Amino acid sequence: LFVVFEGGDGSGKSTQTALLCDWLAATGRSYLKTFEPGDSTAGQLIRRIVLDPSTGELAAKAEALLYAADKAHHLDAVVRPALARGEVVVCDRYVDSMLAYQGGGRDLDPGELETLARWATDDLRPDLTVLLDGDPAELVAAMVKKDRIEAAGVDFHRAARARFLALAASDPDHYLVLPAREDRESIAAAVRDRVAALLQ
Ligand code: C5P
Repeated sequence: LFVVFEGGDGSGKSTQTALLCDWLAATGRSYLKTFEPGDSTAGQLIRRIVLDPSTGELAAKAEALLYAADKAHHLDAVVRPALARGEVVVCDRYVDSMLAYQGGGRDLDPGELETLARWATDDLRPDLTVLLDGDPAELVAAMVKKDRIEAAGVDFHRAARARFLALAASDPDHYLVLPAREDRESIAAAVRDRVAALLQ
């Protein structure tokens, strides 16, 4: 089973990823907790290029290709082997983040970007994507330390949010959209219910 958490910066994806994994552990399931970009040796280096402010300007296509490279490698080296072992893979960000940030926020053709992202991941789609949705002005404002992307303007984050919601609306059976402002326990409970049903 492949479960992904998506949403804007500061939406609580990492917290919810951890809470779901705690529950999987408590129920005796084997699972893999992972994230994009950066959860591989090569990925760590790619993550530094795309997120470190010292990178300075980065052409939009170069950025998209770096994210795509991270995904292709992460899938091959981390995600697919875990799925083959029968583990529940819980991933903090996946293809939708790329479509939302590089497509919704930057000046790239959404169709071309989607082709690139699907190619990089052999079109492997999650069984469930949990979208933690919230107003970027509130979510980003609440964050203390901001990286290169998080420091981008609110319009960038609004465009990304719209793209996340459009992706969820286009395939409702595979998405669970939850308000990011809700308290973390009720979000975690809603996620558990859905994942429990999928595991049966
Ligand atoms: O989720 P995490 O905080 O690790 O994401 C790191 C940063 O990368 C965030 O600022 C996010 O906005 C950005 N990002 C991006 N495009 C992606 C994935 C992440 O701009 N495809």
